[in-house]
Amino acid sequence: MSIERVGVIGAGQMGNGIAHVLALNGFDVTLYDINPEAVDKGLERIAHNLHRQAARGLIKDAAIEPALAHIHKAADLDSLKDRELVIEAATEDESVKRKIFQDLCPRLNETALIATNTSSISVTRLAAATDRPERFIGLHFMNPVPMMQLVEVIRGIATDDATFQAALDIVRRVGKTAAYAEDFPAFIVNRILLPMINEAVYTLYEGVGNVEAIDTAMRLGANHPMGPLQLADFIGLDTCLSVMQVLYEGLADSKYRPCPLLVKYVEAGWLGQKTGRGFYDYRGEKPVPTR
Ligand code: NAD
Repeated sequence: MSIERVGVIGAGQMGNGIAHVLALNGFDVTLYDINPEAVDKGLERIAHNLHRQAARGLIKDAAIEPALAHIHKAADLDSLKDRELVIEAATEDESVKRKIFQDLCPRLNETALIATNTSSISVTRLAAATDRPERFIGLHFMNPVPMMQLVEVIRGIATDDATFQAALDIVRRVGKTAAYAEDFPAFIVNRILLPMINEAVYTLYEGVGNVEAIDTAMRLGANHPMGPLQLADFIGLDTCLSVMQVLYEGLADSKYRPCPLLVKYVEAGWLGQKTGRGFYDYRGEKPVPTR
């Protein structure tokens, strides 16, 4: 099964990144979002990022126009009806995703595959909301998509071998590396990364170190490119909390208990870079630790 025509649902930070790498690698891409402005913004972001990649010598200037020409705007789900694969990258909310699949499935050819980019919701459960659980799979791209090498590939309980092989082929054709993960809460990367971030917040909460000491310790002592609290601000503290909640509830183990200080930051609306304040305050010229 060689896939050429791909639909992407959701033109936010992940959806536009996924459309970007697909188009750059020759796929014919249709990009849809419930909010038409998000599609326009997504296309602007893709053009901007392609130019940035060219300026850094990562791609050729001549690759920009063909890549952009490979992406079409979709005004509605009907425009996805000839797609051989649709990748869903809409808001991380199970009811939103279920509704999308309910509306999408009757429009698609019965052989078309569906993938979800969810970071935490059970692939098996989402597959059960479609008419084709055997042709449904998790393709978990990392943020920012054009820069990050990994894609986790997650089979639901019913996903068939042909769908799994087709997903691995897509990952290979966009020049990325697949890691196969079983369908358990938060898969592999977030299962390991988020408890580390949560532990860094406990270290702060218990006064073992302040923000600067914790981040410096992990950057210079463990050779991490970013400290865990800086990384938490980059991911978004609401997202970090929601992944910890999925782990805590899904695995029923107290070791995943979200740190009360993380909860407090989220309740304050201090969600990290996107709101201007988290473990660092980004409102001035340079980020300043908030503890
Ligand atoms: P985002 O908020 O940037 O974008 C989500 C987009 O989905 C928005 O443009 C919104 O208008 C659109 N949308 C909402 N409901 C829709 C509907 N019914 N039909 C079509 N479009 C709809 O979010 P994001 O960060 O791009 O996350 C998207 C998905 O990717 C989520 O499942 C998330 O868990 C996953 N993910 C996120 C990251 C990350 O670091 N942000 C990393 C990996 C995976």
